[in-house]
Amino acid sequence: MRDPREASAIAVERRRARAAVKRTLEAGERSAFSVAVHAWREKDSAEAGLRVTEFLGSIPGIGEVKIPRILNDLGISPRKRLGALGTRQIGTLKAWLEARTSNDNHGDQRSRLVVVAGPTAVGKGTVVARIRERHPDVRFSVSATTRPPRPGETDGEHYFFVTDKEFDRLVETDQMLEWAVVHGHNRYGTPRGPILEALDSGHSIILEIDIQGARNVKRAMPEALLVFLVPPSWDELVRRLQTRGTENSEEQARRLETAKSEFDAQSEFDVTIVNDDVDAAAEAVVHLMTDN
Ligand code: 5GP
Repeated sequence: MRDPREASAIAVERRRARAAVKRTLEAGERSAFSVAVHAWREKDSAEAGLRVTEFLGSIPGIGEVKIPRILNDLGISPRKRLGALGTRQIGTLKAWLEARTSNDNHGDQRSRLVVVAGPTAVGKGTVVARIRERHPDVRFSVSATTRPPRPGETDGEHYFFVTDKEFDRLVETDQMLEWAVVHGHNRYGTPRGPILEALDSGHSIILEIDIQGARNVKRAMPEALLVFLVPPSWDELVRRLQTRGTENSEEQARRLETAKSEFDAQSEFDVTIVNDDVDAAAEAVVHLMTDN
């Protein structure tokens, strides 16, 4: 057993080390982002031992009053230490810090590539449509696909509906940021030009694509923020797929098979949002794009 005097000396030393980290944050000598990343890498460090309240309170410009709201928004308990956050909480806090850092650096909102993905029939389309309605300023990538249009879908708005030959040409001429065969037959891809144009001109842009696409975008552009939408439950997902009436039963069965394996990809994403309320899910995505 450790000598109690030794144990208390260690505790005093740890407290002193945490206080030193807080001072460097307060003085702006270290960025909040670098302190957090250090805490997540080195679980025994002074940084990891900081309570999230102490950490946030040491960031210049964040007063006592703001802390509970920020933690509530991020879904983090005020009692948590920085080094003990779960994967999901790390993802949300990281996104929040990145957006904040960038806003500090540029004085205006930074452009962001946000990829919204999730298991089939989770309601990505509905959430994205709600964002369009409520935030006409947000830009969206329009994918190209070889699948035929559904009733009510417009070329150039919902998708660029192209032939197999045209799709081949887009791939061969390197005009696709990523592309994939989705649900076993049709091809879908993200045109590269409009994404780069949006980011270069300081606009954020949302991509609503499948999970393999999200992985490929992250590989090509690691700064992309990957958002995983999940349904409140598996039963709810089956119900949504069966009641939307856009697929026949064979296609429904195929999409459910895909959805099962898609759930496993959640841990690869930066943030998870539960789609139990379309308005709330839509606002959560926009919040990630704009919050500082
Ligand atoms: P739907 O046929 O229902 O419009 O879309 C089927 C799937 O294709 C959805 O999961 C959607 O996210 C995905 N998807 C749409 N556009 C793209 C894209 O550009 N790239 C990839 N990889 N998937 C896409």
